[in-house]
Amino acid sequence: MSSHPKPPPFDVDDPAGIDDQLSQDEKDVRASVRQLVGQVAEPYVADWFERGTIDDPRALMKSFGEMGLLGMHLEGYGCAGMTAVDYGLACLELEACDSGIRSMVSVQGSLAMFAIWRWGSEEHKQEWLPRMATGEAIGCFGLTEPDHGSDPGGMRTRARRDGDDWVLDGRKMWITNGSIADVAVVWAQTDEGIRGFVVPTDVPGFSAPEIKHKLSLRASVTSELVLEGVRLPASAAFPEVRGLKGPLSCLNEARYGIVWGAMGAARSSLYAALSYAGDRVQFGKPIAGFQLTQAKLADMTLELVKGELLALHLGRQKDAGRLRPEHVSLGKLNNVREAIEICRTSRTILGANGISLEYPVIRHANNLESVLTYEGTVEMHTLVVGQALTGLAAFR
Ligand code: FAD
Repeated sequence: MSSHPKPPPFDVDDPAGIDDQLSQDEKDVRASVRQLVGQVAEPYVADWFERGTIDDPRALMKSFGEMGLLGMHLEGYGCAGMTAVDYGLACLELEACDSGIRSMVSVQGSLAMFAIWRWGSEEHKQEWLPRMATGEAIGCFGLTEPDHGSDPGGMRTRARRDGDDWVLDGRKMWITNGSIADVAVVWAQTDEGIRGFVVPTDVPGFSAPEIKHKLSLRASVTSELVLEGVRLPASAAFPEVRGLKGPLSCLNEARYGIVWGAMGAARSSLYAALSYAGDRVQFGKPIAGFQLTQAKLADMTLELVKGELLALHLGRQKDAGRLRPEHVSLGKLNNVREAIEICRTSRTILGANGISLEYPVIRHANNLESVLTYEGTVEMHTLVVGQALTGLAAFR
């Protein structure tokens, strides 16, 4: 019989021993991001959420840039060139603070920067990527419109040629970072199909009114983009890509980050509930000692570690060049759906205190309502998986 070393003691902070699957470098990335978030966002985020505003989003973006978190998985042009797993771990730590903070970084790196990095001309890349990587320039990504969300192929925003120029007219809706952006990647119909445009936000005819009265993702800027006769040079268009392939390739990047990020919101809520349950005494003992509470805690832990393992697996696949969009759909569908359930169940453990902003739980649960919808709704990802399984598209 071979002798095995004794397993380490059970670690409440790593209940399935997943940390063993990470390299020291990966753990260091995670620790650095956790530390930074603890300094620049965590102490303030509940207040930002309550007031529906981030005090100084430019300074926050720059602090993320200084750490190399913006476009961190891209190569060249001042980007950090880290792995997909590193990027995922960063997303998890950012979203353990708040989904709005993770959204700010995701939209910058995975939507706006990735779009320029993947589809832009050399001139676009040189002009924007280095400044976006440091956070000096902020980007947004305009795909959704008031009448076209899950089905962006029907978008009405139009770019027409006028001599050598392009002229853009239309409206985009629900655009993260819109009002604070220096550059907008805007997708529009043209005579040659859907094309992407790099739009500096100080051009005449462009405006980005902020959307107010949100009860979710309140620590995040969300805006409308209004384009009225926006005149751009011929060079503003992405040179090659045509059709929905362009925007969908970018969404796939951002969705990958969400697979990890959602588990951060879930982790934060679960540990708030665990701590609360140990302190809160009812019927003469801590509520953590009741079987019904333990069943909730055990089930939530199970879904958390399953989600984390799935994220790590997909990250390793991405680093090996084996990740397909359907895999990302599986991950986003499962992890956001389970994360919101974990937040809601944690909320029940905190009783009335669960609805207070003094604890992170209701904030995370409300935020995840947006995360459930953006970057492809639950229904869309279900249909993607359904099509992959059956070969039959059920979108229309
Ligand atoms: P709809 O498409 O109208 O869907 C409404 C409901 O109908 C959903 O439940 C949907 O699943 C369901 N449905 C639709 N079609 C079908 C079908 N065929 N079968 C079954 N069910 C169906 N967009 C951007 O471009 N850039 C951004 O930066 C951005 N940031 C966002 C930030 C926030 C806070 C939010 C809330 C949204 C953001 N979005 C952004 C928009 C987001 O991507 C869209 O909201 C999303 O794609 C869904 O579109 P919709 O809201 O128009 O819903």
